Amino acid sequence: MGSARPSKAERLLAERRRMLEIIKLLKREYPDVRCFLDYATPFQLLVATILSAQCTDERVNKTTPALFARFPDAGAMARAKIGEIEKLVQPTGFYKNKAKAILETSKILVSKYDGEVPRRLEELVELRGVGRKTANVILGNAYDTPGFVVDTHVGRITRRLGFTRNSDPVKVEYEVREFVPEADWSKFSLWLIAHGRAVCTARKAKCEECVLARLCPKVGVPRS
Ligand code: SF4
Repeated sequence: MGSARPSKAERLLAERRRMLEIIKLLKREYPDVRCFLDYATPFQLLVATILSAQCTDERVNKTTPALFARFPDAGAMARAKIGEIEKLVQPTGFYKNKAKAILETSKILVSKYDGEVPRRLEELVELRGVGRKTANVILGNAYDTPGFVVDTHVGRITRRLGFTRNSDPVKVEYEVREFVPEADWSKFSLWLIAHGRAVCTARKAKCEECVLARLCPKVGVPRS
């Protein structure tokens, strides 16, 4: 007689164990991973994250020193002329929209939060130019509060690893974080981003170099 098929609860438990193993390996592989954007305060991280839409972190990090030297905090930014912000953020692309978002957000921070960046996701997403992804970046990196950021790397790799089939980042966030201990949410994103840049790239998964190979259902499928 064949053995009974595993129940839903047993399958879930097995997937949680697989995820813990993946986390252990990623932690070992990328021990020094940290936020890829340069910043000195939560406000600066917020601005840098707004600028990072459709732009590389490297370019943002080259752009923000001059911007923050001129307007270091929400108070200074809120008093800026839009044209001056536009000029300083131009290299990051879509600069008119980004400058507007930064100026309006700074004004809200000054009028509603005394110039500080709020610590709750619900308040963060109310700010202009701030979606769940940006809010989670702030929570996880500036405030050390669990925030699971789903960017293109995180979405792609969690799909390849079989923890989701969704392409909608918000659905991926809710689905995948069920498997990840809350304390690891922020770092888990950073590990996957590092892994997505170095090994499990969009163009070609380098499975032969991958520490997760024995745990990945897509091993050997380079463009999955
Ligand atoms: S085994 Fe291949 S597809 Fe799976 S995570 Fe590693 S590089 Fe990506």
